[in-house]
Order: sequence, then C-alpha cells, then structure tokens
Amino acid sequence: MASRKLLLLPGDGIGPEAMAEVRKIIAYFNADLGLDFELDEGLVGGSAYDAHGKAISEEDMGKALAADAVLFGAVGGPKWDSVAYDVRPEAGLLRLRKDMALFANLRPAICYPALAASSSLKPEVVEGLDILIVRELTGGVYFGEPKEIIDLGNSQKRGIDTQIYDTFEIERIAGVAFELARARGNKVTSMEKRNVMKSGVLWNEVVTATHKARYSDVQLDHMLADAGGMQLVRWPKQFDVIVTDNLFGDMLSDVAAMLTGSLGMLPSASLGAPDAKTGARKALYEPVHGSAPDISGKGIANPIAMIASLAMCLRYSFNLIAEADRLEAAISGVLDDGLRTADIWSQGSTKIGTTEMGDAILGKFKALSA
Ligand code: NAD
Repeated sequence: MASRKLLLLPGDGIGPEAMAEVRKIIAYFNADLGLDFELDEGLVGGSAYDAHGKAISEEDMGKALAADAVLFGAVGGPKWDSVAYDVRPEAGLLRLRKDMALFANLRPAICYPALAASSSLKPEVVEGLDILIVRELTGGVYFGEPKEIIDLGNSQKRGIDTQIYDTFEIERIAGVAFELARARGNKVTSMEKRNVMKSGVLWNEVVTATHKARYSDVQLDHMLADAGGMQLVRWPKQFDVIVTDNLFGDMLSDVAAMLTGSLGMLPSASLGAPDAKTGARKALYEPVHGSAPDISGKGIANPIAMIASLAMCLRYSFNLIAEADRLEAAISGVLDDGLRTADIWSQGSTKIGTTEMGDAILGKFKALSA
C-alpha cells in the first residue's frame, strides 16, 4: 500500500516530551514491521506563535489537510497568556478542528486493571471498564446563533445561547457511533433531554430513524442525559458506546474520564466525514491533557495518553487493528509490571520518568510482536 502520511504537531510544554516517545514507536514500526509511515512535523500553539506570529501557519495547516492523520501533543502555557485572543495557542487547535471539519469526538474511558484502585470509585465498579463516548463537536449550543449578551435597559442584561441541531448533523454523528459499536460491544446509548428540549426531541427521533434504516443489528437504548450522568458513576460498565451532543458530551466525557484515574492516561480522536472517493476520514488524535507547564521540562510527564492516542490512530485511520490491540496490551502490561510515572504512582510501585515509560511500553510491544 501507499505510505501512510502522518503529521506530528507536538506543540508546547509536555507535548514534545510525550511526542518523542511516540516517535520511537513509529521508528520501530517502520524499521522492523515494515509499516511505511511517512512522518512530517509542524508547529502549533505557542511554538508556532514564536516562529510565525500565529497559532498555526498556513503551510502547516496545508500539511494537516493533506495528511492521512494528525497526531497532536498539547498547546499553551504562561509564556503566551497575554498574546492577542485570535493568535492564542488554543486557536491553533480550534482552526485544525474547524478546517478539517472534525465533527465527531471520540473519548474512550478505559480502566486498566492495575489502576482500578486509584479511581475515586470502588475498584469493582471500574475495573475492566471500556466505554467510548462519541460527542458531536461542531454544532449545538456552543456555536448556535444568536449568541450574545443584550442590555435590557432596566439595569438588567440577558445572556443568550442557542441550541440548534439539523437532521444531517444528528444522522452523521449517530452513524459514527453505530459503526464504532459494531466493532466493539454492538450497543449504543443515545443521551439527550427530550423531556425539556425540542432539539432533544429531534435528536431522539433522528437517532431512532437512523438506527431503523441502517443499523438495526446494533442494540440502541435512549437515556436522558442527566440520568446518564448518574448511571455513569453508578454502574459505568452497563455502557458500550454513548452518543450525545456537544454540551452534554463535554460534561459526560469529563465525568467518564475521572472514572479512570489520571489525565495523563486519556487519549482522544476527532474524526471528519468520509471522503467521497476514498472513504477515508480526516482525523486528529490527541491526549485529553494540556501542556502541563508545572511539570514541563522535568522528564516526569506521563506519555501514556499520547501513546494511547497513537493506538487510536492505528485503529481508526489505518485499520491496523492487531497493532493497536498490541500497543494497548503493552500499556496494560507495563502497568501490570508495577511501572508508574509520578502522576499514577502509589506505594509499592516503581516510579519512572517519561523516557523510561516510553521505552518500557516499546519493549513490551516488541515482546508481544515476537
Ligand atoms: P493540564 O492538563 O495541562 O494539567 C492539569 C494537571 O494535570 C497538572 O497538574 C499537570 O501536571 C497534570 N498533568 C496533565 N497531563 C499530565 C501528564 N501527561 N503526566 C503527568 N501529569 C499530567 O491542564 P491545565 O494546567 O489546566 O492547563 C495548562 C495549559 O494547557 C494551559 O495553557 C491550557 O490552556 C492548556 N491546555 C491545552 C489543552 C490542549 O492542548 N488540548 C487542553 C487543556 C489545557
């Protein structure tokens, strides 16, 4: 097959430190597994601002649009706190999401058995947890117009946000959720607030119709989003794939994240529509965490979220399912061996740094590949 074009955007803070561990793994893929990844690299966030005066250059934006997938580290830090709003580091990520039309955000919540005791919930509630939240990312109340604060003239103001969803937006995110469910536990739970929101009524209708028309082999349940939040902390293992809108997805995915322990463990993917000719989707993979300026440069950042983002990239952009499974098994195996970065360290386990963690995961991956 033609080479697999992957753009690396390490960004700021611990982004480059975590990305260095991913680069080692890809070098092994190319040298020993013949996987033929063609790597390119660009600047985003504060590092792009320092070089070009904006959060991502047109050249790097062009590279992102031409790549098969983008791996993104993290952006931001105190150094850029006072730069103009439209060139702030986060603007680079927002531009990537907008120009690549990434409407589906995938946030897995996986609880590795070795870390079950560090969750705020009881180990039996979270051990072995493997759920996926599919959040609509480009519509809903974060973008709907009117969006404004108006002066009512009587010393009162009115803040207005507008929740809007059209049929096509709900159909396409539901389609992503059903397709992903087929490759997992074959079950989708759709969450909205149809009891109080018209957009919730339409969401429910369209998900139901999409299911009936194209995905009736997948089990579909509906749940009110507030009840869904409660069920997520009561018995999260009842879920497989959850599909929900932008606002509820923002909150529910953060709730699900905390079931699994540290921010340093959480990967994510954002996908666009399939290309009409090739069927390939534009895609960006990134850890959920930020640039962690408090630990940047100390060699102690946890690279697992970044490495798990690579595993998602192998799975969803390159259909390298066996390699993705093996990389996730390597992460799990290293944790089983008691190796921990500082953020997930507990008494009785061995504290190691970023590079050692990357090396240990690569070593485990090699052993599993032998
Ligand atoms: P953060 O995620 O960077 O850090 C929160 C806490 O978690 C810190 O104590 C940090 O040390 C710890 N942490 C995060 N990732 C870790 C890892 N891999 N290993 C070990 N510990 C880890 O969030 P913040 O402190 O609110 O934000 C810092 C900067 O990152 C800000 O400039 C913010 O705007 C930016 N940010 C960027 C993104 C992104 O690039 N997608 C996301 C969130 C925040």
